[in-house]
Amino acid sequence: MNKGKKLYEGKAKILYEGPEKGTAIQHFKDDATAFNNLKKSTVEGKGVLNNRISEHILSNLNEIGIETHLIKRLNMREQLVRLAEIIPVEFIVRNIATGSLTKKLGIPDGTVLSKPLVEYSYKNDDLGDPLVAREHILEFKWIKDEVELDYINNLCLRVNDFMQGMFRAVGIKLVDFKLEFGKINHDGKSKIILADEISPDTCRLWDVVSEKKLDKDRFRKDLGNIIQAYQEVARRLGIIHEENNISPVKFGKPKAVNLKKK
Ligand code: C5P
Repeated sequence: MNKGKKLYEGKAKILYEGPEKGTAIQHFKDDATAFNNLKKSTVEGKGVLNNRISEHILSNLNEIGIETHLIKRLNMREQLVRLAEIIPVEFIVRNIATGSLTKKLGIPDGTVLSKPLVEYSYKNDDLGDPLVAREHILEFKWIKDEVELDYINNLCLRVNDFMQGMFRAVGIKLVDFKLEFGKINHDGKSKIILADEISPDTCRLWDVVSEKKLDKDRFRKDLGNIIQAYQEVARRLGIIHEENNISPVKFGKPKAVNLKKK
């Protein structure tokens, strides 16, 4: 499928114009960044795995009636998506306290939360995506009104419910994750859909038994075996099989219980 002009280049993805009006092609890169771009590297094969994992999760969400931007995966690194106007708020859902929550509030790492916690950050790299309150979102009209915000909040909890079950079934704890939403025009009306990606880049995933990290924290914390961890997630979800590697890149054999550091 022919790509149109580049619309946007982010840290891990590029968005091109799609073949029809209202569509785009989302390309997954191997670039990895952390700490608001202070740490950068390339992780060979990451884009291929995230493309597959995100396709798997978003198509499952589509099936249970949570509308997403995904139309279909095109190839190893690209997806055809609906072009949405991205809402400048990142929705973070947490089941277990870790990461910035423990850093900001001194909550002990690993504390299981009594119910899922939804946090909001303002999408702005120059400001380091600051945590904001519902009142900021409404005051600055990043989201139209309370009804719309409650609607998105509810979608976040539904996505969490679904993903928790999906990961728990394959021995993975869904610790936290980030979602982005966008608006599309549907029959003259504005409609909110889930956009961006859901992958080990945007989730924290811990092995149920060993609590080993199977996500981007392996990159953030220099734990090594990043690609093996992402492969492990894809393998457990049934997306790839050990003998049938999905990538032209040789990843080596996935190591389920052999990741040295937690
Ligand atoms: O860093 P923090 O603890 O706030 O991250 C919470 C969750 O949101 C993690 O799963 C992280 O990978 C994800 N996240 C993200 N993109 C960001 C910020 C956080 O995917 N810009």
